Amino acid sequence: MNRDVVTMSLQKKENNTSPENSAPSGIAGLTAPLNDQQFGQLQQTVSELSPQQLAWVSGYFWGLSQSQPSAAAAPIANAASAVAAKPAGKLTIIFASQTGNAKGVAEALEAEAKAEGIAVELFDASDYKGKNLAKETHVIIVASTNGEGEAPDNAIELHEFLQSKKAPKLPNLKYGVIGLGDSSYEFFCQTGKDFDAFLAKQGATSFIDRIDCDVDYEGEAQTWRAKALEQVKEALSSGIEAEVVQLPLAQAAHSQYNKQNPYTATLLTSQKITGRDSGKDVRHIEIDLEESGLTYQPGDALGVWFENSSDLVNAILAQVGLSGVESIDVDDESLSIHSALVSKYEITASNPQLVTKYAELSGSKKLLKLVDDKDKLREYAGNTQLIDVLKEKKTKLSAEELVGLLRKLTPRLYSIASSQTEVDEEVHLTVGLVEYDKCDEKRFGGASSFLAHRLEEGGEVKVFVENNNNFKLPESDDVPVIMIGPGTGIAPFRSFIQERDNRDAEGKNWLFFGDRTFTQDFLYQVEWQKYLKSGLLTQLDVAFSRDQHEKVYVQHRILEQAQQLWGWLQEGAYIYVCGDATRMAKDVHEALITVASQQGNLSREQAEEYINDLRKAKRYQRDVY
Ligand code: NAP
Repeated sequence: MNRDVVTMSLQKKENNTSPENSAPSGIAGLTAPLNDQQFGQLQQTVSELSPQQLAWVSGYFWGLSQSQPSAAAAPIANAASAVAAKPAGKLTIIFASQTGNAKGVAEALEAEAKAEGIAVELFDASDYKGKNLAKETHVIIVASTNGEGEAPDNAIELHEFLQSKKAPKLPNLKYGVIGLGDSSYEFFCQTGKDFDAFLAKQGATSFIDRIDCDVDYEGEAQTWRAKALEQVKEALSSGIEAEVVQLPLAQAAHSQYNKQNPYTATLLTSQKITGRDSGKDVRHIEIDLEESGLTYQPGDALGVWFENSSDLVNAILAQVGLSGVESIDVDDESLSIHSALVSKYEITASNPQLVTKYAELSGSKKLLKLVDDKDKLREYAGNTQLIDVLKEKKTKLSAEELVGLLRKLTPRLYSIASSQTEVDEEVHLTVGLVEYDKCDEKRFGGASSFLAHRLEEGGEVKVFVENNNNFKLPESDDVPVIMIGPGTGIAPFRSFIQERDNRDAEGKNWLFFGDRTFTQDFLYQVEWQKYLKSGLLTQLDVAFSRDQHEKVYVQHRILEQAQQLWGWLQEGAYIYVCGDATRMAKDVHEALITVASQQGNLSREQAEEYINDLRKAKRYQRDVY
């Protein structure tokens, strides 16, 4: 359904309201800021809609209200445009995003700017030409950072361009930067810092100080956005002009469910897909989206809000001498400390700030010594959970002191392992259970253990879809695709192949999969063999690292198949990589450079450029972390 159809049907109903269908007098006034006639019209209109259409319409209105509150309140017949006083000039927002957080902040900024009447353009960094910065007056960059201080894939080109000799002088540019990152890493918010430095070096002036936000960035980012927009509005308001502001039509059609307002879905299936003797527990998860109206594309991720283990909460409370009933205020709500730890705070992963604060509170000599050595502190925090840190020195804490150590709970993102062309209103995930022994006790990851252990089939889980436009199948179904996804990195490729199957795509498909052992860890083996047999999967190369003495990884298979892989690239193939960013993705990148160099008779530099050009042409896409 497109937006115009909805608008037309709403308009038609305006003159067609029967008294029987109107709300009883007064009810509309109690339930909504509508008069009785408006409420009656709305009721009559919605009575003819299916639940799915209702969800769509609610998303449509939500989109309107987010972007143009004053216009959304205007009569529907005028909803497509509104006359507003609008500051002259334009704000450009660019996002450098890996997992969607920076994109989300940039989109919120765009909506808020529109609500302020500021003309605004939003760009994915990969779609923005760096030289155009010279034509801009006001730019805000929202930049996340990869683990080791690298720019997200969608911003590598812009990041390189701005530090190259080709970068333009920017004397007329005013800019602001929001960095997003994780302070557990050494190069915290490095990409944001880089953009700030690059722009300043080219003569641009920051109109607001950069902020470097940690994982629980929402509140801080929101305050910064409000301040930044105030300044932009003031600066652009030198020549106020009345202008017709178009409503953001495409955005209005989104489902109303998002990170802040997740959909409460039902777990249908949680099935272990590694063998009994595997060293890993990997789950195939199926979730019912029912009539939520949530849609996704292959390559998108599912955000999952989870609850912490009540047993772990009890162990933490006992460790610091709290009973669990002590009351604590969280987000203007009074909760018992037990409930707060179950649903509001991160209590599994540790981080350097937590260790530092607890070192001071407890006076633990071991922790205080660690605090003085940043590398060791990061390593320690990376290998411990909150309970391990608390056990370093038993210390009584108040509920406020305990919560003061913690970050707010954030949802986990999982690459989606299904295509809606195959599974309709379901969404499938491939989840590796994080599980290890520490001090003779089992430690579990927060979200994976929630999905695998604490959530029963039929239970409720809060989810939202996180679009990833930087990991998408080629538009043409005739283009060959090469998919490289060891371990749970296989997830999006199950989605890709289902989509290609249902679209009757003619293009060839090649999968490189790697895992520990053939018998225990070949994820979705039966499905891949079926696709191979049907011919949909043209080629399958597997690397089982622990089936022989020497390690064999996907990059070894890539090198063995160099000639054929080069041939596919000459035919225009797209390459996709999903999984571990720290080692695998780097080694695969190196292997691709080697293939280009050997097969294309290129120098190392030329081969690097060749692979870079593939990335710029969106023919080399990665979903790695
Ligand atoms: P895993 O067991 O850690 O690894 C899968 C296979 O990769 C094993 O055979 C492993 O071999 C091998 N491997 C180890 N080092 C490698 C290297 N340098 N190059 C190539 N292969 C290597 O798999 P997993 O537990 O499923 O996790 C995979 C990783 O992907 C995790 O870090 C996960 O967080 C990440 N992931 C990311 C995304 C995403 O970005 N969207 C999605 C899914 C998973 P050995 O263990 O025998 O050395």
